[in-house]
Amino acid sequence: MLYPEEFDVIVVGGGHAGTEAALAAARMGAKTLLLSHNIETLGQMSCNPSIGGIGKGHLVREVDALGGAMAIATDEAGIQFRILNSSKGPAVRATRAQADRVLYKAAIRHRLENQPNLSLFQQAVDDLMIEGDHVVGAVTQVGIAFKARTVVLTAGTFLDGRIHVGLDNYQAGRAGDPPAIRLSARLKELKLPQGRLKTGTPPRLDGRSIDFSKCTEQPGDGMPGGATDTMPVFSFMGRPDMHPRQMACWVTHTNARTHDIIRSGFDRSPMFTGKIDGIGPRYCPSVEDKINRFADKDSHQIFLEPEGLTTNEYYPNGISTSLPFDVQYELVRSMAGLENAHILRPGYAIEYDYFDPRELKSNFETRSIQGLFFAGQINGTTGYEEAAAQGLFAGINAALKCRDEAPWLPGRDEAYLGVLVDDLITKGVTEPYRMFTSRAEFRLQLREDNADMRLTEAGRQLGLVGDLQWDAFSRKRDAVSRETQRLRSTWVNPRSLPASESERVLGKPIEREYNLGDLLRRPDVSYAALMSLDGGKYEAKQTLGAAEIEQIEIAAKYSGYIDRQHDEVQRASHFEKLKLPEDFDYGQVTALSFEVRQKLSKHRPETLGLASRISGVTPAAISLLMVHLRKGG
Ligand code: FAD
Repeated sequence: MLYPEEFDVIVVGGGHAGTEAALAAARMGAKTLLLSHNIETLGQMSCNPSIGGIGKGHLVREVDALGGAMAIATDEAGIQFRILNSSKGPAVRATRAQADRVLYKAAIRHRLENQPNLSLFQQAVDDLMIEGDHVVGAVTQVGIAFKARTVVLTAGTFLDGRIHVGLDNYQAGRAGDPPAIRLSARLKELKLPQGRLKTGTPPRLDGRSIDFSKCTEQPGDGMPGGATDTMPVFSFMGRPDMHPRQMACWVTHTNARTHDIIRSGFDRSPMFTGKIDGIGPRYCPSVEDKINRFADKDSHQIFLEPEGLTTNEYYPNGISTSLPFDVQYELVRSMAGLENAHILRPGYAIEYDYFDPRELKSNFETRSIQGLFFAGQINGTTGYEEAAAQGLFAGINAALKCRDEAPWLPGRDEAYLGVLVDDLITKGVTEPYRMFTSRAEFRLQLREDNADMRLTEAGRQLGLVGDLQWDAFSRKRDAVSRETQRLRSTWVNPRSLPASESERVLGKPIEREYNLGDLLRRPDVSYAALMSLDGGKYEAKQTLGAAEIEQIEIAAKYSGYIDRQHDEVQRASHFEKLKLPEDFDYGQVTALSFEVRQKLSKHRPETLGLASRISGVTPAAISLLMVHLRKGG
């Protein structure tokens, strides 16, 4: 049956990429349909019930600054929050939250069901409708054909998914969900370049069978015994009172016996016996991989993380495994506190198809099929946060394509989202890609705390940011700007400042006039201390919140570094956005090496900046190309 209504954007898949893609496209006014296997699993966390962390938290805040759902849903569902790296510089500080799985899904679903311009439909998609080199819709399992101008595919780990537990394996999208076999075959028929990757998950434990008295408690921030009294929030619109009841995590350890048990299963491990070909995430390895690679380490920390307020299920973070169940049973029971632990669900690995993201244009549209966009794990990434950010990006660009407008492409100096997209389309992946702060060369300016300052205006212009968020952001931006101005134009005269006051706040008397902005740049002078100077004589008239004060302090303290980085960005930008014509004949630039000419002809980068990040394309080659372009080719 041909469905009677037509859509601007069809999103296939209701995971983290798909839900953000659908919400973004619909917020921008595109008539959007979200097609997914099962409405009950919208926003499902396939693995760890946690959001954020270093690099990942940065992406979540960017999604939030652009009006996305992940951060605010986490505020509504988070049962433990922590600020990681809190004693380090602001660029690497990151929020991490433990979420209640059920509450998280409910928060996402509530947003999807109440989003104007968005319809949901439960069915597996088996086929894509293609006319010439354009996608024109998607066909479901029972033959319902939905027409659309663009399709965003976010099938996650489901394409030809195969689960492994020991030497047993079966087809599935993740435990309990069907795989997408027909769609995978159809994509192969379309000759989109693809490969296999794998990921894994630990066995889940029944909390009633854990002896927590033998484990170390790890409370979150803002909880009794936590690292700070301040309760973190994820979203710029979040408030601590949105959080449900908070819970502690627990820590236990593997030991020599655990490691022996794990080694005893190597001969039945699908990883070590060649049953699994796909490459797994290097930074989230299985426990057998850790024991094999770091043979000299005799213990690893295992975090026991609650999965929610209404369940006894615990996620033992650190023992992801695809070893046979009998080995899983023994290895779990070898650890302190887990001697009698009951496994509720076995751990497993899953292998799945991914598509080479170097075959995507910079807006995530496939090069060979117009209107077809890919986002999320299908592009070779791992993680909810990476998926959500890509989904939002693809949703925006699909909506823009429907309006015949130019794509929205944040730069590497503007957002982690820019770094993520750029890395994927220029370098591709050899293993599941996850975000780190070290991937961002301009990380001093790409902080969690200023994601709104970097992106909310763009989000508003794109139609992503609602009035409530925009008003809150505008008030914050204006307050920061007014106060920064005031600090720069308020002078402290050494003659009128009592020496005792000067010593108390500034460490020693000042020898000349300084403005408050300059004094705040000093490492030991906080904003609060400055405002207390001389009986509060220099206090602001306006009331400032913690977030505004944080912006003012970071901007002052790091201004030297930030200015230097800004100069670097300016220097790099002279070639970053220089366009390379689509039909550019690299063969005629004979001064380039044969290898570089071949690579550029194959990848056809859209700009000189993208060309510079293709592996093997040297700075010398970029200079040659620049000269060639300036001469008019
Ligand atoms: P998914 O969350 O997989 O969502 C895909 C969605 O598409 C689902 O809703 C599915 O029903 C739907 N779908 C698929 N095919 C079709 C179709 N043909 N028709 C209709 N709907 C379809 N990440 C980490 O960061 N660390 C880890 O340790 C980790 N371990 C993992 C372990 C396992 C076993 C799994 C399965 C995942 C793990 N992940 C891990 C990855 C994390 O779950 C994903 O990165 C993230 O969920 C990807 O989001 P996504 O939206 O791209 O895809």
